[in-house]
Amino acid sequence: MKPVAATDAEARRRRQRRMARTWAARLAVLLAICIAYRYGYRRGAHSLPAVVGRESQPEMIGTRHPWWEIERVIATQPCRRRITEVILHHTWDPTAAQYAGEPTVEAILRFHARDRGWHNIAYHYIIGPDGTIWLGRPLSQVGTHTQGHNDGTIGVCLIINADVEQPSEVQIKATAIVLRTLFDRFGLSARRNFAPGHGFHRDYADKTCPGTLITKARVLRWLQGSP
Ligand SMILES: [Zn+2]
Repeated sequence: MKPVAATDAEARRRRQRRMARTWAARLAVLLAICIAYRYGYRRGAHSLPAVVGRESQPEMIGTRHPWWEIERVIATQPCRRRITEVILHHTWDPTAAQYAGEPTVEAILRFHARDRGWHNIAYHYIIGPDGTIWLGRPLSQVGTHTQGHNDGTIGVCLIINADVEQPSEVQIKATAIVLRTLFDRFGLSARRNFAPGHGFHRDYADKTCPGTLITKARVLRWLQGSP
């Protein structure tokens, strides 16, 4: 009987080894799927969670979005601050003519985060002359765009020198969508936001920001869909 028992034990050990190999293979496949998924996130293959991911890494430059995505993106951005006003800016320098996409936004980020010593870009949204909306500082963080008025406000900045340059049609469209979406989300009235003394950087500082060519009547017209 002894050899039979030995064979049984041997068979059991073989079964156990086979089981272990099967489970190891299953785990390896699962791990591979996880890694591929994470890699996909980083490559922006899953654009929505990538935005949320960048939110948790405020030192990173924001992702870019065309205007037709921004409502969905703004809706997913966490924000625990109480928002009472959206303040409009222009970059002045760089100008719209100098805009070259990501390098331009990176230059602004470097200037704010490194040269000025702020931890991130000053604004929450940066809008290029091509209508691209760049996510700046996470909504949940106070900006550094309007001295003395950063608490409770959101900074939206157009890449343009609107003292001498006119915003492009698509830049106007993107700005209108960002403003409308923010007003909707935070229950703000566009008229009250852009009432005298509110809504423009020049209301709070000795500057022309967001540019002398941009007036509040004009921005209110943008919000109604006309350039
Ligand atoms: Zn400004």
